[in-house]
Amino acid sequence: FSSQELTSSLLQRIEQLDGQYNSFLTVSKDQALAMAKAADAQLASGNAGPLTGIPIAHKDVFCTQGVRTSCASRMLDNFIPPYDATVVRQLNEAGTVMLGKTNMDEFAMGSSNESSYYGAVSNPWGSTLVPGGSSGGSAAAIAAGLTPAATGTDTGGSIRQPAAFCGITGLKPTYGRVSRLGMVAYASSLDQAGPMARSAEDCALLLNAMAGHDPLDSTSAARAVPDYCADLNRPLEGLRIGLPKEYFGDGLDSTTAACIESALKELEQQGATLVEVSLAHANLTIPTYYIVAPAEASTNLSRFDGVRYGHRCDAPSDLDDLYTRSREEGFGDEVKLRILVGTYALSAGYYEAYYRKAQQARRLIKDDFMNSFQQVDIIAGPTTPGPAFALGSKNNDPVSMYLEDIYTLAVNLAGLPAMSLPAGLVEGKPVGLQLIGQHFDESRLLNVAHRFQ
Ligand code: GLN
Repeated sequence: FSSQELTSSLLQRIEQLDGQYNSFLTVSKDQALAMAKAADAQLASGNAGPLTGIPIAHKDVFCTQGVRTSCASRMLDNFIPPYDATVVRQLNEAGTVMLGKTNMDEFAMGSSNESSYYGAVSNPWGSTLVPGGSSGGSAAAIAAGLTPAATGTDTGGSIRQPAAFCGITGLKPTYGRVSRLGMVAYASSLDQAGPMARSAEDCALLLNAMAGHDPLDSTSAARAVPDYCADLNRPLEGLRIGLPKEYFGDGLDSTTAACIESALKELEQQGATLVEVSLAHANLTIPTYYIVAPAEASTNLSRFDGVRYGHRCDAPSDLDDLYTRSREEGFGDEVKLRILVGTYALSAGYYEAYYRKAQQARRLIKDDFMNSFQQVDIIAGPTTPGPAFALGSKNNDPVSMYLEDIYTLAVNLAGLPAMSLPAGLVEGKPVGLQLIGQHFDESRLLNVAHRFQ
């Protein structure tokens, strides 16, 4: 069948079913049909690539030329970018067909998709469950069969955690592997875009198109991009997998632990060796991340001042009133909380006690990984402490929400690549197996995930 047929049938599914999930914020129907038509012409001409004509959805954090990019915030409710994010441009050039933009936590701050200005997303595995966050719309749309692929971003788990909760596969690349240009910034030293799909093979195809040096992002890596599909079938004999003892202790739900252990057994049966390792500073991860990320967010979000773009309050009496009321009205509660925490941590007198300390702890957390990688090729463990939790059960308690991120945050602090893949079901709910790799070793992760699947 043609891309136009596939695209129309998915657009129809979105129209019929997404009322119950709320996974799309914008459906760009006319544009999608035009892109599918162009893709069909390319397929007919014989010079098509593996992604030509494949429908995709982009998290609403990526700028899309002419298509609203809200970041799920009232602040950007009216924002239509004049350019495409590099990731979007690369995927367009690879021939993908953009169906629309997906729901997310406001400015990517959250672990349940409940902080969206446009309402929560519900998990296709159970309407009372969260899909995870912040890329919850992308994960739910794939799980519901509304799109075969989507982009996400991961600052502290936002690709992996929703992938785990929705039973799909998601990859957070090495920091610098994928351009951040045109991705609305949350915490610039942690943010990274990556693919979300049904399988490791699909993620590999998407990463082939997304990865690469971007001269317009000064932190993007000038390294050649391997073919991420080339090693998918490599046997696992001789692979050493590290299991951090801190990731299997208190706090991990026992049925989830059993599910992860049986997934690891399967890898062992394929010839991998399981080795215990220690990430001794794992207990510092949450406090470190929740200083570094809000600190960077507080400076990044200062650009939303109601002057150049975004929400502006009515009839400001003077410039201060314009700034204050535009920000007060434009940002939701979680975003305001992060700005307050971040500004406090960076203030004169507190900087040494909080931000400087967090930077020191960040180094210790990274060194733990580097030491473990002296003994093992990859590290494996749970993506989350348990399966998807109930909508509304944690959103009034930031600390219990932040605890959900216990196994995902350290990877971003260390800049490492990691993925989540479906490990099995616990009480009918999906559980994710997390694989963590050495810098720029995405091929290895994809290989292990592909063999497992
Ligand atoms: N849950 C984490 C946070 O709220 C991570 C979010 C993300 O990766 N964007 O900051």
